[in-house]
Amino acid sequence: KSTMIRTVFSRSLPRLCRPPACHYSAGAIPEPCSQPEVHYDKLFINNQWEDAASGKTFPTINPATGEVICQVAEADVADVDKAVKAARDAFRWGSPWRRMDASHRGLLINRLADAIERDSAYLAELETLDNGKPYAMSYTMDLPTVVKCFRYHAGWADKWEGKTIPIDGDYFCYTRHEPIGVCGQIIPWNFPLLMQAWKLAPALATGNTVVMKVAEQTPLTALYVASLIKEVGFPEGVVNILPGMGPSAGAALARHMDVDKLAFTGSTEVGHLIQQASGSSNLKKVTLELGGKSPNIILSDANMEDAVEQAHFGLFFSQGQCCCAGSRIFVQADIYDEFVERSVERARRRVVGNPFDLKTEQGPQVDQEQFNKILGYISSGKREGAKLMCGGGVAADRGYFIQPTVFGDVQDNMTIAREEIFGPVMQIMKFKTLEEVVTRANDTKYGLAAGVFTKDIDKASYVSNGLRAGTVCSEPSQQRLVHLIQHHDYKDTTSICNL
Ligand code: NAD
Repeated sequence: KSTMIRTVFSRSLPRLCRPPACHYSAGAIPEPCSQPEVHYDKLFINNQWEDAASGKTFPTINPATGEVICQVAEADVADVDKAVKAARDAFRWGSPWRRMDASHRGLLINRLADAIERDSAYLAELETLDNGKPYAMSYTMDLPTVVKCFRYHAGWADKWEGKTIPIDGDYFCYTRHEPIGVCGQIIPWNFPLLMQAWKLAPALATGNTVVMKVAEQTPLTALYVASLIKEVGFPEGVVNILPGMGPSAGAALARHMDVDKLAFTGSTEVGHLIQQASGSSNLKKVTLELGGKSPNIILSDANMEDAVEQAHFGLFFSQGQCCCAGSRIFVQADIYDEFVERSVERARRRVVGNPFDLKTEQGPQVDQEQFNKILGYISSGKREGAKLMCGGGVAADRGYFIQPTVFGDVQDNMTIAREEIFGPVMQIMKFKTLEEVVTRANDTKYGLAAGVFTKDIDKASYVSNGLRAGTVCSEPSQQRLVHLIQHHDYKDTTSICNL
């Protein structure tokens, strides 16, 4: 998936002729304003801006400084009820949304994409302010990908067709694709705009209405997109956006009796709760996109330079806060020492700092909680005997910055090899044979993604066929444009349906 991300990233920069990962031309990026104005801080229900029924607000923090950006309205049970009612009303038989031509739904989604593209620089600034990701990434990767996602799904709106079925007898049998109804959607903070797009775009293209609970760490860009939803002409109640906390607003949405579908992206732990909430309420359909501890396998014939750079990107991208991060790097024994040495050298060169500086590769972690959690994992790695090769500490005297960290000699049973760290901490392990590495790579409770680096297409497909992961990417590295990407149907957690 890192390869896919890199591909999307490079395709997002048509004028820059396919740059390698993390190398972009600062000249193509507008100079950012590091203090963008916040225009929207309330709940978005029925195309209106509302205070929470309780009057409560919560602070959203700039992770680069630890300072409060602003207070945001905090949705709770009463607000979820109100938003679900608005979405249900927008979905009633005969409503403007239900009567709208599918092609017109597609047009509205395309107009939303256009409005986001128009305001890309501002949205990228706001994303960086609230999340901490480097502005160069927000502007060149997140925003273009969000726009593409909406445009892609806009095209589906009038092409989502049913079938006729030749059953026996004198009958006419056909399927008609209907929207599910009111979709609850709960998203995390690591790619706030992209997660919003992945959820909203397919749900709207297929005619559903939405109540979305955004992550409490990063509510601001989703609210600005809500204003664009209103601007481009979506009818009232079709999209409702609620900032709020997981155990209150999120849980209320998950157990709501009038929500037909719940799409969740976040931790595996909360994924269990979402599934249970469905089971103990109305058995709503559930889609889960959860965590990962993805193996990245480097065979001894791989192009070393390419493998080091890709593995670096595949782990450190987005401050390591990526569900598909290649965080277990298995390296074949005969190239292990060189790979570790070069990976350490690359990690030491990683530019950590002010996310608004265009040279910055790594900003702060999203909040104090993640910061503490990652430092805790680094301590456990040291305690359990992994070899700390570089980093391992705090990278600035304020904000939530952590040094790019590499552990060598990692053993499969160590905590850092088993649990999702979700931070800039690389684990490198040694293997000898392909059979061995497939078995070890599959020894995990996760199954999200995997990567294989080799010049040999036979080995690439042998290893990827054996991996139990939803998406396996392989780069036969002499043919840089040939990416082997396989999608296995494996574990619900890897569903690619984000509706
Ligand atoms: P999280 O599960 O703590 O939070 C995600 C969302 O769920 C937030 O909006 C949060 O408020 C809400 N939530 C929390 N408790 C809830 C509850 N009891 N009921 C309902 N909603 C609740 O996850 P996080 O720490 O914010 O995000 C990081 C996790 O997300 C990582 O495990 C990462 O791998 C995963 N993730 C997965 C993907 C994917 O596509 N598979 C993408 C991004 C992130």
